[in-house]
Order: sequence, then C-alpha cells, then structure tokens
Amino acid sequence: MNSYDDSLLQLARDHAARFLAGIGERHVGARASRDELRSTLALPLPRSGDAPAAVLEALAAVGERGVTGSAGPRYFGFVIGGSLPVTVAAEWLAVAWDQNAGIHVTSPVAAVVEEVAREWLLEVLDLPRQASVGFVTGCQMANTTCLAAARHAVLRGAGWNVEEEGLIGAPPVHLVVGAEAHVTIISAMRLLGFGTKRLREVDTDGEGRMVPESLERVLADLDGPAIVCSQVGNVNTGSIDPVRELAEIAHAKGAWLHVDGAFGLWARACRDRRALVEGVDAADSWATDAHKWLNVPYDSGLAFCAHPESHRAAMAVTAAYLQFSPDVRERDAVDWTPEFSRRARGFAVYAAIRSLGRAGIAEVVERCCANAKLFAALLEEAGATILNDVVLNQVLVRFDDGEHTRRVIERVQEDGTCWLGGTEWGGEHAMRISVSNWRTTREDVERSTEAILSAAAVRV
Ligand SMILES: *Cc1c(COP(=O)(O)O)cnc(C)c1O
Repeated sequence: MNSYDDSLLQLARDHAARFLAGIGERHVGARASRDELRSTLALPLPRSGDAPAAVLEALAAVGERGVTGSAGPRYFGFVIGGSLPVTVAAEWLAVAWDQNAGIHVTSPVAAVVEEVAREWLLEVLDLPRQASVGFVTGCQMANTTCLAAARHAVLRGAGWNVEEEGLIGAPPVHLVVGAEAHVTIISAMRLLGFGTKRLREVDTDGEGRMVPESLERVLADLDGPAIVCSQVGNVNTGSIDPVRELAEIAHAKGAWLHVDGAFGLWARACRDRRALVEGVDAADSWATDAHKWLNVPYDSGLAFCAHPESHRAAMAVTAAYLQFSPDVRERDAVDWTPEFSRRARGFAVYAAIRSLGRAGIAEVVERCCANAKLFAALLEEAGATILNDVVLNQVLVRFDDGEHTRRVIERVQEDGTCWLGGTEWGGEHAMRISVSNWRTTREDVERSTEAILSAAAVRV
C-alpha cells in the first residue's frame, strides 16, 4: 500500500474531539457498571477478527459510559491532573511514530527531547543543574528509581557493591520514613529488597510534616548506611516537610535524603509558593509526576538524582547486541530507568514546558492553589470544617462528623456535577478535594461547592 488510509485516525480524532468538547458538561463519574462494561466488551475471542473501524466504534461507544471525567474541570478526586491540549496532540505523534525511547540509536529525537526536557525541568524546579533524570511511568517508579540510587550510594559508602553482591550479607541499611509516607515509598522499599519491618518512623505534626527533632532522635541511635525519605506535598493536606532542616540532620549522619514530591515539588515553579519549598534542593534525590500538576497525559513520572553516578550505577545494564552511543553526550535512557524498551513519554513533557513556559507553569500551579483556597473559604462560610492549612491544592473537609461526611461524598459522586473522594484524617472520615487540573476555573469551584452543599443539606 503506498497511500496511507488515515480513516481510523480520523475516526479516533472525531471521537476524541467530541469527548473533549463535552468534558465540562458530562456526569463527572463513570456511568457504567462492571457488568454493563463486560456485557459489551467480553465477547468470545474473535476467530478471524472484526473490522478495525468497527472495533474503534465499539470502544468509543463503551468508553463514553465507562470513562471518568478526570480530564475535565470538576474532577477533584485523588491527585489526578488533566492534559494540556498540546500534550495530547504530542502524545498522538509519539504514538504514531511508535518510537522505542530505550537508547539513542532507537530514537535520536526521543533521546534529545529528553535531554532538553531534563535541562528545562531542572531550571523550572530549580534543582541542582547536574542532576540526572529518568522518565518513568509515575511517582511510584520515580521513588523506586531514586531509592535504588540511594541504596547503591549508601552501601558503596560502606564498601559494598549492591549491584554485584545483592543484599544478602550486606551491611544493614537503616530506612527512615515519616509517619505520613506515601504507600509508594513503602512498596518501593519492598521492591528494593528492604522488608517493611525495617522501616523506622519519624513523628509528624498536625499537618503531616516530619518533625526534625524526631528525625534527630531516630538517627542518633543508628550507625552505618541510612536512607531518609521526606515528602513535599502530603496526599491529604498538601503539607511540605522542612526539607532543608531534614537534609542537614540526615547529611550530618551521612544518610541519603530522598524527597517524594509527586505533586508538591511543582510549588518550586511559583515565586509566590517559593517560601514553602525553600531548601528542598538540599536533598539527594527527588521523585515527581508530570501526569499530575504538569498536566500531561498518563503515564509520566520523573526521577531526579543529585548524584548521576549513583543513579546510573543502579540502573545501567549492558548486552553485546545493544548499540550504545559512542558519543558520550548522547543519552541512552536505559541508563536512568528501570524500564528497557519504553514509550517516548518525553515528547509530552517537552511540549508542556515549551508551550507553557516558566510563567505558564507557575500560573497553572498558582491558579489551582487559589481555587483550593476558594473551595475552603466557600465551604467554611457555609458551616463545614476545614481540617488542614490549605497551603497548596489540597482541602480536607468535614460535615458534622465522619459518618455524615461519608454520606455527603457518596451523594456528590452520584450527583455528578463534580467528583471527589474521602480519606481518614484525625481518626475520622474526611472529604478530600484536590485541584490539579489546568481547566478548573472559579466558576467550576462555585458550581461544585453548590453541589457539595446541597448534598450536605439532605440528611438521611
Ligand atoms: C500520587 C503520589 C504518588 C504516586 O504517584 P504515581 O504517579 O501514582 O505512581 C506518590 N507520592 C505522592 C505524595 C503522591 O501524591
């Protein structure tokens, strides 16, 4: 075939465009149950295959009811983020090119896009300019990558090569986390061969921040290699650990300080939020997401390491058939990520940064924070209790008690004007609002507040 039939791409484009045009008005939750979705999707394995256009139409039809409106302006569940239009389009290109971003030779453009995106990211987030970056699936893998680099470095300091010798017989590594560490820190520790029973917890304050004196006490008892995990952006409150102080304490004991900054690290892009995240660059590694606050499509995470040689030592592999670049300036992404063959997720990151610029990124983050403040003000005025200090994009709300709050959340989810979830805070159920989507406006917050308040007013 010498002319490409683009009717499938046209079809996908039409469905995608219709979906996005209506994203502000659809019921924000998914409409279809598992049974309904299975009744349409779970056919007997096709013997000879359906026509591609029919397959696409079927997916589009079932998708219409089975997707959540998380791309839209009134989705406040978890910390999800949306997608800037340019990143969706850049992603389409990357998929059409079907590049394997594993090594320079499999896709020179993907490699150079990552190189440049790395430089821009370090500038935007104001992290040490020599830091290395791995483009991974999300903050789970970013935490894992950074902690693998940490494991390498602290054991090398104790005269042990963990990549060659493994952990059996290795000097014990002390692992220190805040009491509010995200679950992905815990699973990263498990994946790296550290049992969860080895984790020592540091006390956190009322907002979920690590208490420096508590870290000092924990480390005072410990000798030998140690890794400390701090957090910038608590998933419930948005609070930020005092990283500069923690880094001083950790470094005085020769420990590695890691930062889980899945969304909170982006506060470093804003001048107005800067005081909150001053000193965060004193850490040794930082994990963050691009698919949350940078608003690129899923999946996209970033692992930064201030010690590139440890990062590379933990990740790099070699094999006779691989053609690594003889030019050392050329980037072989496999040196920086646990994945081998990999989707070229750098394109969307590059497109987001280039189209927003430094000012645009700051503006998206700042607007989300302002809208979170607005939520808190409107709900508090109406009699709800705001449980956290709203320093970023997260708001914790309680209506009377945990039980009533749980019912309010259920009714809000049924109503569909907006979507949000719940959490436990202070031993009771709380409503959790996260504003992370570039589309959300003041009007969306006002409209959602009305829906939440009318759900709260109906007592059962
Ligand atoms: C979202 C989040 C993670 C996990 O990130 P994924 O992208 O879902 O892998 C880790 N830590 C924090 C603080 C988060 O908010």
